[in-house]
Amino acid sequence: MPNFGLGVFAPEPQSDGSLIIRILVTGGAGYIGSHTVVELLAAGHEVSIVDSLVNAHPAVLPRLARLGGRDPDFRQVDIRDRGALGSVLEDGFDAVIHFAGRKAVGESVSDPLGYWDTNVAGTLVLLEEMRRTGVRTLVFSSSATVYGNTAVAPFDETLPTAPINPYGETKLAVERILEALAVAEPEWRISSLRYFNPVGAHPSGTIGEDPNGIPDNLMPYITQVAVGRRERLSVFGDDYETPDGTGVRDYIHVVDLALGHVAALDYLARNTGYRVHNLGTGRGYSVLEVITAFEQASGRKIAYEVAGRREGDAAAAWADTRRAGEELAWRAQRDIDAMCRDAWNWQRQNPNGYGNEPTA
Ligand code: NAD
Ligand code: UDP
Repeated sequence: MPNFGLGVFAPEPQSDGSLIIRILVTGGAGYIGSHTVVELLAAGHEVSIVDSLVNAHPAVLPRLARLGGRDPDFRQVDIRDRGALGSVLEDGFDAVIHFAGRKAVGESVSDPLGYWDTNVAGTLVLLEEMRRTGVRTLVFSSSATVYGNTAVAPFDETLPTAPINPYGETKLAVERILEALAVAEPEWRISSLRYFNPVGAHPSGTIGEDPNGIPDNLMPYITQVAVGRRERLSVFGDDYETPDGTGVRDYIHVVDLALGHVAALDYLARNTGYRVHNLGTGRGYSVLEVITAFEQASGRKIAYEVAGRREGDAAAAWADTRRAGEELAWRAQRDIDAMCRDAWNWQRQNPNGYGNEPTA
């Protein structure tokens, strides 16, 4: 039976033999965090969220309760606020899933200090407060961006890392801190999950991705064109060495990604130390293939024009998923059609994201 007894509280066995564990989710009001909270609640766990709401809308919270069947506890806390974060951790947790951070590549180039402060210094505060309060199980949101753009796909976890922007540097810096911590203090159980390209939304259309301003990423840009918020998509380059010349990525449904975190917690119940896993499908789709799949799923035509390449973009990136399959017993189940259908379902029901309804 899994043993999460590294926190201050032992897990509570339920009548069916499974365990309730108490999980603190940083950044749990954000895109990936919110979908993970739903899956954790569905699995019967107790969930507390800390989020500063710097990139999330409070309207997500009642929706999480509706989808998960129970209210997650929520505290509006900045992870860099040691006193506030420490006092939350004093409530006693078995594990932390750490999503809180900033994630826009372009912004990280213009504000590197801000990115290092939130992503790295913020994580140091979290780790120190976890240690002080006796919580030594952690799942960390890393990114395939740590591979950089020189390696040839598929990317496996043993490849050398070579991030090419401050955002990627902060993710790699945290990975290195976590690895060193697990060497120095072998009772830690730490998982770094390197996400490929998360897309889609909960199939209910209740929660989804709601970027601020003009979307940087392909799928939210497409859904905003489909719903009439943007005129046309710019396809960044059609002269790459890929089958149709456009960039190829490993898109993964956010619900599969969320379930990957549940699998990582289970892995950590069985293993001490530090381990990295890719979370992707192992299959790449080009920009034009995504447009076609989206048009089929939505019945809407996506206007686009081919623009120049975007600086820093790789031609093709997809995951080698063998390690996650073998060690986490996890595999992405949802295909590109489900990703497009669910992204559209969310956008259609929420044309202005969370902004179109009163806050909770
Ligand atoms: P998101 O911005 O929707 O979620 C991050 C959440 O963290 C937000 O709710 C935000 O309000 C919160 N937050 C930010 N700074 C905080 C702080 N100082 N204190 C407390 N809360 C804070 O982003 P997401 O797409 O859900 O990404 C979650 C994590 O996954 C991030 O660490 C991101 O770097 C990583 N990741 C995302 C992607 C992607 O494509 N979305 C890919 C790879 C890795
Ligand atoms: N892309 C595009 N137009 C856009 C946004 C993205 O053509 O408006 C392309 C981009 O060049 C890449 C793919 O879509 O080939 C995925 O880009 P995204 O920003 O979503 O993810 P990442 O670059 O982080 O892999």
